[in-house]
Parts: sequence; C-alpha cells; structure tokens
Amino acid sequence: MNQTYDAIVIGAGVMGASIACNLSQRGLKVLILERQSIAVGATGASSGLVRMHYDIEVDSALAWQSFHFFRNWRERIGGECGFKRTGFLQIVAPEKNDQLRGNVEMQKRVGILTDVVTAAEVKKIAPMFRTEDFELAAYEPESGYADPVLTTNSFLENAKARGTTLKQDCEVTGIRVSGGKLVGVDSGRGHRPERAEGSFDAPIVVNCAGTFADRIGRMVDIEIPLDTWTHDVAFVKRPPKVGTHPTVIDDSLAMYFRPEGELTLIGLEDYNRMGEPPESDLGRVDPEFVMRAIDRICERVDGMEEGSLHSTHVGRDGLTPDQRAIMDKAGPDGFYIACGFSGTGFKLSPAVGVCMAELILDGRAKLVDISSLNLGRFARGELIQGEHSYGHIWK
Ligand SMILES: Cc1cc2nc3c(=O)[nH]c(=O)nc-3n(C[C@H](O)[C@H](O)[C@H](O)COP(=O)(O)OP(=O)(O)OC[C@H]3O[C@@H](n4cnc5c(N)ncnc54)[C@H](O)[C@@H]3O)c2cc1C
Repeated sequence: MNQTYDAIVIGAGVMGASIACNLSQRGLKVLILERQSIAVGATGASSGLVRMHYDIEVDSALAWQSFHFFRNWRERIGGECGFKRTGFLQIVAPEKNDQLRGNVEMQKRVGILTDVVTAAEVKKIAPMFRTEDFELAAYEPESGYADPVLTTNSFLENAKARGTTLKQDCEVTGIRVSGGKLVGVDSGRGHRPERAEGSFDAPIVVNCAGTFADRIGRMVDIEIPLDTWTHDVAFVKRPPKVGTHPTVIDDSLAMYFRPEGELTLIGLEDYNRMGEPPESDLGRVDPEFVMRAIDRICERVDGMEEGSLHSTHVGRDGLTPDQRAIMDKAGPDGFYIACGFSGTGFKLSPAVGVCMAELILDGRAKLVDISSLNLGRFARGELIQGEHSYGHIWK
C-alpha cells in the first residue's frame, strides 16, 4: 500500500534538510528520501564559509538572511551549526577595485555589515598577511564559517520533531504524474539491501538531489542544465607563530582559506574538475593542486613556509552554466527544484528553506525575491551576471 504525505523532499543534503524543516514548520507531513545517507554529497565535503560578499544581490540577500540563523542557531533551529566568527576578507586584484566598491555598496543596501578596507587596514586585521599585491578588500567583521554536517542534522532534528520521516538508502527511481499533477514517487533500494523501497504518494515533490538533480528532472520531462564541479580541499598545520587568521576569499591569488583550530583549510578557484559523472568515485586530490595550494598560502601568509600538509579531501556539487542556483517551480503541478548551488550554497541554506516553503505554500518567496533564479533563464539565454561582475567564480 502506498504511504501518503503532504510533500516529498528528494535528497538529505543541507538543502533538502532545510526545506523539509520549513515545510514541517508550516504544518506539512513531510517525507525525505535519500539514496545514501545524510550529508553524503556536497554538504559533507563543504568548506562551510559563511560570508555575504557576492556580486549579485539575490545571493547576498539569501546569505544575509541566512546569517541571522547562523548567529542565533539554537533559538531559531535548535541543536548546533558550529558557527565560528572569524571575520571575513574578500581580497581582489587591483583591476577589480571598482567592482569591489560597487558590490560593497550593493551589500550595504541589503543591510550587510561590510566595508571597503585598504591593504594597510588588512595588515592591521591580519598582521601575518602579505599585502603588496592588492590595494582593496571588503571586510565583514561578523562573518566566519560553520559546520555543514551539524547544520544539516539540526535541520533534520527540527523537522523530525514535527513529524517528518527520513528514509535513508532509498533512491528515488521514478516520479508519478497524472493529469499534469504530481501523484508520488517510486523508490528502489539504496546501497544497503535491508533498507526501504516502495511507493510514496504526495502532491508536492521537491528536487534537492544535488549533482543528480538533472536526472530527477528528466523523470518529469524537464531539462535541468547541470554539470558537476569536483573540488579539492587541503588542510595545512599552521606554525604556532603565525597565529589564527580571518576567513578569506583571495581572488588575487585565486584561492580561499579559513582557520580550523591550529589548521588552515585551503581551496582553489581554479584547478577544479568539471563534468565528472555524479556517481563516479571522488578519487584523491590532484598532487598538482596540493603544490599550488601550498605555494599560494605561503605567498599570502607570512611564516606558512614552516607549516605542514595535514590532510586532503574531495567534494562535488552541481554547477549551472552561470554558476548560480536554480530555485523554481517547473513541469507538472507540484514539482519544485532547488539545485545547482555551484559550490557556494551552504551559507544560503537557511534562507533557501524559508524561500522554497514560501514558493510552495504561498506561490512566491517573500523573505528574498528568488525569481531571478528561475530555470527558464537558461533556455532564454539570459544567464545571470552581476552589475559589478567578478566573472565566474570557478575556473
Ligand atoms: C568541497 C566543497 C566545498 C564547498 N565549500 C562551500 C563553502 O565554503 N561555503 C558554501 O556556502 N558552500 C560551499 N560548498 C557548496 C555547498 O556545500 C553545496 O552547495 C551544498 O551543500 C549543496 O547542498 P545540496 O543539499 O543541494 O546537495 P547535496 O549535499 O549534494 O545533497 C543532495 C543529496 O541528494 C541525494 N540524492 C541524489 N539523487 C537521489 C535520488 N535519486 N534519490 C534520493 N536521494 C538522492 C544525494 O545522495 C545527496 O545526499 C562547497 C561544496 C563542496 C563540494
């Protein structure tokens, strides 16, 4: 016998968890189906940066609304999200100074706590930084990073306390539609044979399947233009004399880094692998990546030459042609999409949950206007570009 719910969420990454949390808060009986286990996709590998600096307003606004959650996690969601305030610097090469000024102005209009600072001021904030190669940066004193797995688990705990059911090892294999309306989904066994399989009915299905979201789209005859982005991450042990440092996106050296206790996490804007099949093994980090990451961190942070490589890992996220998310309603009545977060979605997840619940239940998102993140932009050739664009983040 089919089991009946008000809404089915496909995928238990941070987005599925946040959306399920918000739908259940609004009184819906929700089922989450996950093909493997909680946070096994992009979420579990995420570097967790929490900052508001973007070159498009919708991303900055989603990040800003989400920031209110990260700062007051226990009161708003319960449990822990592991938010650590470190301060955040966006460093740009001098040829991007005008864009930086324009973006900080836009972010201030949104309400974000941010300012343009000079290289000399950066030196006061982070005395261990070498600052000769840039003139300006944006500084967000309240920003930092959080723990994506804790965040996902607390969304799920909140949802479960309101009656949400989570089935892991349960892969959605088909979606049933009748008369142009969503009826339900079929699932096969996941990776452990003893786990659930079956059919589940609901008039609402939300596609939060990460790198697999285009395949879910095809189940209802929708084309979602999704590539994959495979990203290497390294942790290095900082020599104690370096001390701790802020969280940084260093566009001048095409890298980002943040502290993690006595370690520094590093990722690169270039050197990413696009187009690997979503189910393919993540493999190991590219040795060339490690060399480049170490060279660049030594270039920026004085004293890092005496550091040592601690560990590395690889993660993968869904990437859209303009490297911006898709949050929309499309195809049969009751089908919704939240995917393509393109390597920067974690920090947006609290607001994504609120906005998707509003889109589903009220017909449009009110917390932030997400209409520009529609699916149709790709077919129309209207890719999103910032007014003061930095160009693509990932190369
Ligand atoms: C290495 C790395 C570093 C990153 N760093 C940052 C950062 O610093 N800051 C930031 O904001 N963002 C960052 N991101 C991006 C961010 O982590 C992602 O955008 C976000 O986690 C996406 O969440 P999601 O729920 O959409 O996808 P996922 O976490 O990938 O979840 C999708 C889930 O759907 C499941 N699924 C797929 N198909 C099916 C099916 N048929 N049936 C059932 N379940 C299915 C998958 O198993 C998976 O668990 C990073 C990402 C990576 C990979």
